[in-house]
Amino acid sequence: MQEPIAQKKARAAKVLKALKNEYPDAHCELDFTTPLELAIGCILSAQCTDVRVNQVTPALFAKYKTPADWLAIPAPELEQAIHSTGFFRNKTKSIHGLCRALIERHNGEVPNDFDALVKLPGIGRKTANVLMVSAFNQPGIVVDTHMKRLANRMAFTTEQNPDKIEFDLQKILPRNAWGIFSHVMVFHGRRCCTARKPDCARCPVREWCPARQDAGAQA
Ligand code: SF4
Repeated sequence: MQEPIAQKKARAAKVLKALKNEYPDAHCELDFTTPLELAIGCILSAQCTDVRVNQVTPALFAKYKTPADWLAIPAPELEQAIHSTGFFRNKTKSIHGLCRALIERHNGEVPNDFDALVKLPGIGRKTANVLMVSAFNQPGIVVDTHMKRLANRMAFTTEQNPDKIEFDLQKILPRNAWGIFSHVMVFHGRRCCTARKPDCARCPVREWCPARQDAGAQA
């Protein structure tokens, strides 16, 4: 039987409260100081860890500040600089495409507007939501690999498509909770409810999670 929406909302509220309590400092784990730096960090983080991205970006962010600066870096040089993040040719193209579009359409600024963000090259709904939440302090639900896995395990969605998961979560959470919910779910996915071995025994939301496993059971 499908869980009534009111019950799902109540469960989501309890999960959010418990995770906020568990991870009071949950935040975006990419290092950045400007919206442009965060946008570039997001592009670099595809198929790469935030830790690795954070090793690469400080030297680049110290040197290049504006979209024009980034656009002026010859592609082979940028490819070399971001090589360790993987997919460096595509990422270089994305960074250059983004910076060109920012100059042409937005006077060199990253727009504080979701609809404008998703029209930019290299920026999908996930990155647009990351920017809305972490650069602009606006509502947004970030559906990355952790959110996808946890939202399914916690039965907040049965979808696999990130956009559909985002819309399902929007229905059960108040807008002002979207950002913090994104942060704590990603923190929880990295630290406890991992892909291979969810640590249900010490999970602070096991009471409200239908996927909880008894100690010793298979993940
Ligand atoms: S109870 Fe287990 S499966 Fe559910 S959220 Fe916690 S760690 Fe993940």
